[in-house]
Amino acid sequence: MYCVEQASVETSARQGHSFVVPNLLSLVLKRELITSFWPHYDFLGDFHTHPYEHYTDVIAIKGYNYSDGDISRIEDYSGYWRFYNYRVGVVLTISRLHRRGRRGLQRLDNSTIEFALGKYRLWLKGYVAVLEDKQLKLTSDYDQRVALECPALLGMGREYTGFNELEGKLRGL
Ligand SMILES: [Zn+2]
Repeated sequence: MYCVEQASVETSARQGHSFVVPNLLSLVLKRELITSFWPHYDFLGDFHTHPYEHYTDVIAIKGYNYSDGDISRIEDYSGYWRFYNYRVGVVLTISRLHRRGRRGLQRLDNSTIEFALGKYRLWLKGYVAVLEDKQLKLTSDYDQRVALECPALLGMGREYTGFNELEGKLRGL
């Protein structure tokens, strides 16, 4: 289980009209900074946003998913990311609504949570990198045991092991 406690947007990425190239030197510096001053944190992966003008565009093209470019940015540089022990990718998609949204929180699938904040509609989606023939492959597949939990949105979430079983066992002694 991976627990994301801090996320920062890679602001130093070079952005084109429809592409984003990560600045690899910036990642090295960030990692050094974190391991020097906050050694209890470890690099897990990356986080970025997908801003959309219209809610309907997100739905039409499932814009809350990683783009082909997002996937190849990791998989095509597999050796590099393995060196940094890349394990998790998170994308937050945001679109504006013309009026305050009514529909609240919902799970679209095992790795996607949709929610509303005022006049914004947001989607949080998680990917996990798995190793296949020495190559990193990104997946959000439930069969690969990917399940996004977000207690800040969903509450306590699922019970991974039976809670309160120990007490029952102790009573039986
Ligand atoms: Zn993206």
